Amino acid sequence: MKIKEIKEKYNKLLNDVKTKDFYKIDLTNRVNCYICKNCGHITKTKDIDAGVTPFMFNCENCDEFAYSRFYNDVAPELKPTFEWYRPTLKELLKMHPVLQEHILNGGLHYRKINY
Ligand SMILES: [Zn+2]
Repeated sequence: MKIKEIKEKYNKLLNDVKTKDFYKIDLTNRVNCYICKNCGHITKTKDIDAGVTPFMFNCENCDEFAYSRFYNDVAPELKPTFEWYRPTLKELLKMHPVLQEHILNGGLHYRKINY
C-alpha cells in the first residue's frame, strides 16, 4: 500500500471508530484470557481501544499457541500482562504490510503492560 492510501484508510477507520456501533464497546473491564494448548498457562490481556483482537496469541510462558476465551475472565485473580491498542498513524506506517492490513480493518495491536 502507498503511504497516501494508508493515510486515507486510517482516517476512515478513525471516523468509523467514532461513529459506528461496532466500535461502541465498554472498555472498563475488557479483559481476555488466552489459554496455552501446550503448558496450560493463561496469558491475560486487556483492550484499551475498541477493535478486533485475534482468537490466537502466543503463550507468554512457552511461546506456543494460546487460544482465546472470548472475553470470559476465567482467571480474575490474574492481572493482564498485555494490552491491545490502536496504533497511531506514525506507528502504523512502520509496520509490516500484513499487520497494516489488520489494523486498517479495525484490528488492534498488542504491547506488554509495564506496571
Ligand atoms: Zn504455554
